[in-house]
Amino acid sequence: KAKQIAIYGKGGIGKSTTTSNISAALAEMGYKVMQFGCDPKSDSTNTLRNGKYIPTVLDSLREKSTVKATDVIFEGFRGIYCVEAGGPAPGVGCAGRGIITAVELFKQQKTFEELELDYVIYDVLGDVVCGGFAVPIREGIAEHVFTVSSADFMSVYASNNLFKGIYKYSNSGGALLGGVIANSINAPYAKEIIDDFVKQTNTRVVEYVPRSVTVTQSELQGKTTIEAAPKSAQADVYRSLASKIAAHTTSQIPAPLATNELREWAARWGDYLLALETGTVRTENAV
Ligand code: ADP
Ligand code: SF4
Ligand code: MG
Repeated sequence: KAKQIAIYGKGGIGKSTTTSNISAALAEMGYKVMQFGCDPKSDSTNTLRNGKYIPTVLDSLREKSTVKATDVIFEGFRGIYCVEAGGPAPGVGCAGRGIITAVELFKQQKTFEELELDYVIYDVLGDVVCGGFAVPIREGIAEHVFTVSSADFMSVYASNNLFKGIYKYSNSGGALLGGVIANSINAPYAKEIIDDFVKQTNTRVVEYVPRSVTVTQSELQGKTTIEAAPKSAQADVYRSLASKIAAHTTSQIPAPLATNELREWAARWGDYLLALETGTVRTENAV
């Protein structure tokens, strides 16, 4: 049975980039992988297909009444099965319902079983606090959830909201948290901030992924880093991350901070970094 993984995170934080590199690394290891884009932007699988967009499940369903799962699955790098759920027509319908509809189509046609997949990875927009985007957690679609986060407050805020969602559905069979993928961790104190956040919320960092120009160059070629720069250090970081996700078995219930606690936590870091800059605190006095 395929392992079902959902990757969440704030818009623009690097979910699709990270997810596509994980898929590419897993495919390189010989696994059968499906990447299921659940962002209405529907660009999740672009770098697995030389920058090209694919028709979405929801668009296909709007065009004709019966859609075969095979009509909306497209081959990507090393045979990765690429799918984009798509979004509702702008201004109409629920994006979360759209995800359910797209996944149902595959379940009815037993697509996951027939393709004998090892992994299905859902790439889900995560800065929305509504029930719609909690669908993969709530409806038993995913088993393990990972969040991509930088050390920026809005990104941490989105991750904390995701933890609240996971916590809420944790005793009714919802997916649990595998951990945090710390992305773009180069800035001074970015690592310390993320480490402190996972400590406060009883979670853990799965991998620290540096911000790298190799990722930018690869993306401009319409490719993942694994494909465009297989010998780069960045590709090895993605391989390490993919191996950890492959080996991951037990997810946990996170301990989200209350909104005021999160604000106070951020303010303490803000004061500390300011004091560092103005030289009124010595570096060894950690927060
Ligand atoms: P999301 O799917 O979360 O909206 P994307 O994966 O599309 O975000 O990433 C947004 C932008 O950030 C892209 O241009 C991508 O290349 C860039 N990016 C993400 N992670 C990194 C990284 N580690 N190093 C350099 N650029 C990155
Ligand atoms: Fe959009 Fe969320 Fe409302 Fe659904 S529940 S319509 S996804 S805001
Ligand atoms: Mg994306």
